[in-house]
Amino acid sequence: MIQEVKEILLTEEQIQKRVAELGRQITEDYAGKEVVLVGVLKGAIVFFTDLARQIQGDVKMDFISCSSYGSSTVSSGVVRILKDLDRPVEGKHVIVVEDIVDTGTTLSYLLENLQSRKAASVRLCSLLNKPDRRKVDVHVDYEGFVIPDEFVIGYGLDFDEKYRHLPYIGILKEEVYQ
Ligand code: 5GP
Repeated sequence: MIQEVKEILLTEEQIQKRVAELGRQITEDYAGKEVVLVGVLKGAIVFFTDLARQIQGDVKMDFISCSSYGSSTVSSGVVRILKDLDRPVEGKHVIVVEDIVDTGTTLSYLLENLQSRKAASVRLCSLLNKPDRRKVDVHVDYEGFVIPDEFVIGYGLDFDEKYRHLPYIGILKEEVYQ
């Protein structure tokens, strides 16, 4: 483990096992249907690529990028789309793939935005859920792990664009971001 990490919260093995379970569940739920996986850049990329490979059936991929203004460890509540989907989702079954639901601000905006494009269905798959910090109600259809109110990095999650490549999820030492 690297020195900036206080504690490993989820090991590579725990993550991979859970991702395979989520993939099996999605495979069952969407049997006979085409699904569009919408990855939320950049935090969801590692989870997205692992999850996609655990889903059997017709899968298409698209990506969206949002920003919420604020400091790097606390989100502000204002969301805007930086990169939109490449294709329309009208009539499609969409699963939004996200790294973490924290205050819920980004996801509530995004889910509403995709629903307004007349998708046949929109569900949310988030690897992590931090319910203690929720400000806006968001229903997580497929959830990897519930975690405590700590700032985590690794497996796609960054601090200042670092640590995304780590295969585990760790709690960042406070002195790194304070
Ligand atoms: P929300 O809009 O739910 O407050 O924030 C969601 C976004 O904030 C996530 O997609 C992620 O980019 C960022 N975020 C929230 N909590 C954490 C965390 O513990 N670690 C990291 N690296 N990013 C986080």
